[in-house]
Amino acid sequence: MPLDGLFTYAVPQPMESTVSTGMRVLVPFGKSKTYIAIIARLHQQKPEGYVVKDILQQIDTSPILLPQQLDLWQWIADYYMSPIGEVYKAALPAGLKAEDGYRPRTETYIRLTANYRQEASLHVALNILKRAPKQLEAFIGYLSLSRWDTIEGDTCRESVMEITREELMNSTGATLPTLNQLVKRGFLETYEVEVGRLNHGGEPHPELIKTLNTAQQDAYNQILMSFMKKNVTLLHGVTSSGKTEIFIHLIQREIEQHRQVLYLLPEIALTVQMMQRLQRVFGHRLGIYHSKYSDAERVEIWQKQLSDNPYDIILGARSAVFLPFKNLGLVIVDEEHETSYKQQDPMPRYHARSAAIMLAQKGARVLLGTATPCMETYHNAKTGKYGLVELKERYQGIELPEIQVVDIQDLHHRKMMNGPFSPLLLSRVREALDRGEQAILFQNRRGWAPMIECKQCGWVPRCEHCDVSLTLHRSMNQLTCHYCGFTYRIPTECPACGCKDLQGRGYGTEKIEDQIRDIFPDARISRMDLDTTRTRNAYERIISDFSAGRTNLLIGTQMISKGLDFDKVSVVGILNADTMLNYPDFRAYEHAFMMMAQVSGRAGRKGKRGLVILQTKNPQLPVIQQVVRNDFQSLYLDMVAERQLFHYPPYYRLIYVFLKHKNDDVVNTASYELGARLRQWFGGRVLGPDKPAVAKVKTLCIRKMVLKLENGIDMPKVRQYLTLAQQQLLQDKRYSSLQIYYDVDPL
Ligand code: ADP
Ligand code: ZN
Ligand code: ZN
Repeated sequence: MPLDGLFTYAVPQPMESTVSTGMRVLVPFGKSKTYIAIIARLHQQKPEGYVVKDILQQIDTSPILLPQQLDLWQWIADYYMSPIGEVYKAALPAGLKAEDGYRPRTETYIRLTANYRQEASLHVALNILKRAPKQLEAFIGYLSLSRWDTIEGDTCRESVMEITREELMNSTGATLPTLNQLVKRGFLETYEVEVGRLNHGGEPHPELIKTLNTAQQDAYNQILMSFMKKNVTLLHGVTSSGKTEIFIHLIQREIEQHRQVLYLLPEIALTVQMMQRLQRVFGHRLGIYHSKYSDAERVEIWQKQLSDNPYDIILGARSAVFLPFKNLGLVIVDEEHETSYKQQDPMPRYHARSAAIMLAQKGARVLLGTATPCMETYHNAKTGKYGLVELKERYQGIELPEIQVVDIQDLHHRKMMNGPFSPLLLSRVREALDRGEQAILFQNRRGWAPMIECKQCGWVPRCEHCDVSLTLHRSMNQLTCHYCGFTYRIPTECPACGCKDLQGRGYGTEKIEDQIRDIFPDARISRMDLDTTRTRNAYERIISDFSAGRTNLLIGTQMISKGLDFDKVSVVGILNADTMLNYPDFRAYEHAFMMMAQVSGRAGRKGKRGLVILQTKNPQLPVIQQVVRNDFQSLYLDMVAERQLFHYPPYYRLIYVFLKHKNDDVVNTASYELGARLRQWFGGRVLGPDKPAVAKVKTLCIRKMVLKLENGIDMPKVRQYLTLAQQQLLQDKRYSSLQIYYDVDPL
């Protein structure tokens, strides 16, 4: 349960010699319920104010949590002002929390029945299905996903891909009844596969580790030197400088010294590529851990890490910091600047980089790696809190891509834009494809259009539950709220004026894909965004298709900006830099720079300089020029000057205080009352309350306050005051269902 604080239970006599901290036990709680609890501490102090009950039953015979993990939980709970029960929820795989343990889960796969696995019989099937268009569409969808449609003759059937039913439904939009019909009519059949088989990566091959060049070897030595003095070191190396190769050498060194390594990546998509790269060298020493893995798999990895034969290396996303490590030597935080390291919703709103640094305090070192450090990290490195090692050249001296800025405002005026594409962009992409190279188009918006609008009166459909306009998704033929996930039918006419002309405004990746198909009918196009990567297989498929050249034009959101390493990409198009630049946040320029520098880094890897076409209405902005010159120093100086002046990190700490309630008046008065209380203690450090940009989400109205706290302020005291003010406010009956929560070090 998401409870705040710990409770005391009595250890019955027979258990006295068998229980210890980190073990799970069953305890009574409330009137008649029993829950799983974890022993945090064994002590002799009788608590005041309640009757101590007995532990009912001991679940584990050895701890499932190591002492340093409990310490980390407590640190996260305190620092991020989140009940420790929420940390527990986030940290433990469900199988370790469930009262009845975990069962292996199976996934439903789908394939052709034996009758239709020949080319001739397939044609028969397609003919029969002509009269059932939906079934035909789903059937063709299956053939193309599984690559049956690319197989010639009746040989080489092994290359058919296994497809889960869920994946088929997600990518074709087919419904379950449609698929069931196809199964009933004998065209397709389903089969179950148990998920939860750990991957067995084969023998390690340390001889495959690449020899470092001089610059890399230098950096490697400097890192080791830095580790002697500092717990945390930043490796700031331009894209493609070979940071990963250096990491591999450092990992091998830890293994030789019998220590474990945690390798964190910000995005699950990235673990796929990195897994292949690490597995070649480290084989079965490598374990993978992230939230797209089934719970059964996660429990298995957890247990293995507690065993005498744990993985030496864990590669994972954010949640991997919660795994048990008996002998951690090194944590690598790759792409350390990425905001997805911070959990936004639900609680605990923790930053995995900070959590990793805390975890490592008991004797491990932390290496942060990136081409574009976040301002706080770089500041820490520049001021000597962290070590700093730089790598300024790409491997083999390949130049960073050339960036050409295109003023789309001007082209619009001259009516020279083709939708969202400038003539320059289209001609460069065409040339690249003609030469057999690949291109990437980056648009940081998914869906068809960010909104639809009545051409006559300007009416825009909005979510009933949130204060935002709805995004049009054409493939699913619906409007979707990106805040609560609610979907709506597309209206046929405007409810305000009756006009039938409703049009999409702006461009999402779906529409980009559609238009680019018209312009380049021969291109093999794929799209990577949240909608096309709902399953683990889908990620792998899109990335491996593009890596292998089965597709040659990739359209995507920020997902594609993150460290993916493709060989044949010669052109990258940034379709619209302005949505990032105009974002109302003090980090907008920092984030825009990083995003653009990172996507640009995908251009021109093996042997050839790449080209980036950067489309914007604001070519004169300094940040655009900084991107063009890849001038991180100048961005840093601009940003820190501004932050110092306006009291932002790294000079000040921020805490956002959020209040939520279904009634706008209630949340309004409550927020003013809380604001007044906080001002008594914090004075001018409190800003607000204000309505945030999206002031209602999932039917709850929101107010936000900002606390700007100077470095060196007594943080435990601050948290104590905040908690006290919250408790006092919540005593008021009017506020019984008011929610208050905090975002510490918000991004
Ligand atoms: P980064 O992590 O800095 O973006 P990578 O480690 O991915 O850079 O290196 C970019 C490319 O150059 C990769 O394909 C990598 O295998 C290759 N590479 C880097 N260093 C070496 C090396 N010392 N020997 C051989 N190949 C290397
Ligand atoms: Zn209208
Ligand atoms: Zn909504």
